[in-house]
Amino acid sequence: MVTAFTVLGAKSSALVPAKAPPSLPTSESDPAAPTLALTNTCPRGTAPDHDACVHLDATDDGPVAEARPNSHRERSGRWATYEQIPRLPERPADYDVYRYPIPPGLPNGHYVVSGYDLDQPDAKQRRAATLSHVGHGAVDLPQAKGTPVHMITLEHQEGDAEVLYAGTLFGTTVVTRHSLREGGRLRDYVMLFGHLDSIAAGVTVGVPIKDGQLVGAVGDTASPRIVHLHLEVRRVRDGIDLTKVPAGAPLIADSVTVVCDPRNVLPLK
Ligand SMILES: [Zn+2]
Repeated sequence: MVTAFTVLGAKSSALVPAKAPPSLPTSESDPAAPTLALTNTCPRGTAPDHDACVHLDATDDGPVAEARPNSHRERSGRWATYEQIPRLPERPADYDVYRYPIPPGLPNGHYVVSGYDLDQPDAKQRRAATLSHVGHGAVDLPQAKGTPVHMITLEHQEGDAEVLYAGTLFGTTVVTRHSLREGGRLRDYVMLFGHLDSIAAGVTVGVPIKDGQLVGAVGDTASPRIVHLHLEVRRVRDGIDLTKVPAGAPLIADSVTVVCDPRNVLPLK
């Protein structure tokens, strides 16, 4: 592991142990080995990730997106106040400049039929007689039923995504975890693929899932006859240990994750 430390490239990263295993050689036996391996804290330029320190490349570090309070009037008439992470000013507003897990399904190469509006004033949030919820914390991407859904690597992502859940949530749903470099540290985000027709073989809890790998197929589960992919992004709150969060609905509880404008983390084309 220490050897990997010496092969860092401009855009690469490597793992070194955050805690020194008893057998780890000291810098005496390997002149190139940093002494940082003998400490419990991660050195400057690295961030803790479970049992390792992950190197952060300052040129590939995302800005910090702050959660903001907002409110809307629910269908019951009650005003609800919630937290959400709005689009960063430097991220383009145009949905069509981003990459998505499916090809464009609208005329002229457009992707999004219903965008993220939880940052908007109450009057501008989505309301429909057929929808129980006010506002939309995701993007809806229409496509033909059965269209393959492929994993995408998010901006400033470190390593592969990991499947956190595969089951029923927003219809048939897959939830994945993505570690992103943000403000000099790693932060976990979750991405939710909702209303799937089916989940791909091998997409089960705990497995890594690479860019381009099949996640499932577009469908209309829990959204009858409205065939689309509901793609939602949420940031894991500080102090939350995802390994202790029960799979399924708790992953999208406000106390565990904060809903986020997907444009902050979707890769640009
Ligand atoms: Zn949706």
